[in-house]
Amino acid sequence: MEEWTVKINRCAVKKEKPHTDQLEFGRVFTDHMFVMDYSEPLGWHDARIIPYQPLSIDPSAMIFHYGQSVFEGLKAYQTPEGEIQLFRPEKNLQRLNKSNDRLCIPAVDEAFILEALKQLIYLDKEWIPTAEGTSLYIRPFIISTEPYIGVAPSHQYKFVIILSPVGAYYKEGINPVKIAVENQYVRAVKGGTGEAKTGGNYASSLKAQEICAQKGFAQVLWLDGVEKKYIEEVGSMNVFFKINGKVYTPALNGSILEGVTRNSVIQLLQHWDIPVIEERISMEDLYQAYVDGNLEEAFGTGTAAVISPIGQLSWEGKDLIINDSQTGKLAKSLYTTLTNIQYGKEADPFNWVE
Ligand code: PMP
Repeated sequence: MEEWTVKINRCAVKKEKPHTDQLEFGRVFTDHMFVMDYSEPLGWHDARIIPYQPLSIDPSAMIFHYGQSVFEGLKAYQTPEGEIQLFRPEKNLQRLNKSNDRLCIPAVDEAFILEALKQLIYLDKEWIPTAEGTSLYIRPFIISTEPYIGVAPSHQYKFVIILSPVGAYYKEGINPVKIAVENQYVRAVKGGTGEAKTGGNYASSLKAQEICAQKGFAQVLWLDGVEKKYIEEVGSMNVFFKINGKVYTPALNGSILEGVTRNSVIQLLQHWDIPVIEERISMEDLYQAYVDGNLEEAFGTGTAAVISPIGQLSWEGKDLIINDSQTGKLAKSLYTTLTNIQYGKEADPFNWVE
């Protein structure tokens, strides 16, 4: 069908690429972008790859007023042989449609978007950095574009994918971070939008992040929005604890985002015959495990950092120093195996890369 092909309009002049050692996260974008529109009765149509450029959007477009939008985040990696690999992209596209459903945004065709994404990456493949730990960050997003300021689901949308070369997350090796348990603000509540990847969740998380940064912490540990007793996520990562040889992570409860890295870590641990328990974890129980000397490791998981060890957790005036603030063995093994699979340096028994 005509509408299911991607029209390609190449840029006339390619931009200068940044040096690898100057790469920051999310500041530089490649030469092209993917765009597709939604309107009724056409549905999603006019899929195209065009030169990277600003969008022209009516100031009354609904996105500017009520925040009906979703996004995703994944990466493309270059193997030592020069092949381009994606890590479980279909999981991100499934999650995108799950977020779409929650935000009343029409679903996209996941298989078609994956093909379009591959075409975009192939066109801009010279932008994939090759130095150790670097990658091409992929940001698909959908915004509501109908020019109407009534509170209702929009009847028009724009789907865009932009690409950004990113430097190594850990330039000086993996460093455990200091985390403050957040007692005042909450990220999400059950029945809210916590399990969707939508801008509002991140806007509402900024205040707590700003306050904890002023106190010298890297991120906050989010507790549940009702009782503020149960652990949910750390910053914008899922969280894991190794207690007495077993690994615990908060069960998905409707307010936690289901991370692709979280799912991969669980599968990898099971593959290694390490028990993984998904359940409600209270801060009190975690503290007790710490006092009993059973809290061996804690770490966050997410696309950006892969694994981010927690060296210190501050809660109600108490400082929990975890594994002498050193990166634990398990965090290290998970990081090495996951990144080796992502960069094609190790066999992929799960068929995660494509
Ligand atoms: N939780 C939140 C709130 C996030 O924004 C992210 C990053 N997408 C994650 C968890 C980790 O998800 P993933 O492993 O898919 O990057």
